[in-house]
Amino acid sequence: MRTTVSFLIGAVFGATGVLMWVTETRANPRLKDEAVSASVPAPGVTPPSVMPTGLPPLQIPVEGIRPENLRRDFDQKRSGGRSHQALDILAPRGTPVVAVADGTIRKLFNSRAGGLTIYQYDEAEKTCFYYAHLDRYAAGIREGMPVKSGTLIGYVGTTGNAPPSAPHLHFAVTRLPPTKEWWKGEAIDPYPLLTAR
Ligand SMILES: [Zn+2]
Repeated sequence: MRTTVSFLIGAVFGATGVLMWVTETRANPRLKDEAVSASVPAPGVTPPSVMPTGLPPLQIPVEGIRPENLRRDFDQKRSGGRSHQALDILAPRGTPVVAVADGTIRKLFNSRAGGLTIYQYDEAEKTCFYYAHLDRYAAGIREGMPVKSGTLIGYVGTTGNAPPSAPHLHFAVTRLPPTKEWWKGEAIDPYPLLTAR
């Protein structure tokens, strides 16, 4: 009898121990996945669709443009010793411009250099997308308006300092500061975000 009782107690505690281990492993998948995620992917394996910046790939903002049409010009020199810090996408005047990701129209701004511009935030309000030299805004576009990836927001043009003979979208991506001012972001090269599909 005594042996049976201690066996039962042992079995109960043993089962509890196994149960606790299973629960912990389930609650914290990193316990068993650490080794997998730390390993280098085998050749030919598609890398996960998250960029080094931590941002997901973006929709190309100009209708009819494919990744192979884009030319990286983020570091190109501009007047006054500045660099471009953006991506120029050439397209005929009036070509539709669409939102690159879900989010909100934060600011519609007319500046001397950028002309008609849109500042869009992503849903997390950590990233700002900047569309410049627009010919005009899409009908009904207003500040505070939610948009989806692919929503028509404007049309390619040459407003601001774009050469009248070379209509293009000047597209920039910035990482917003915690205080989230639309003019204070830190530039990220948009090219890898638009070509990673
Ligand atoms: Zn530009």
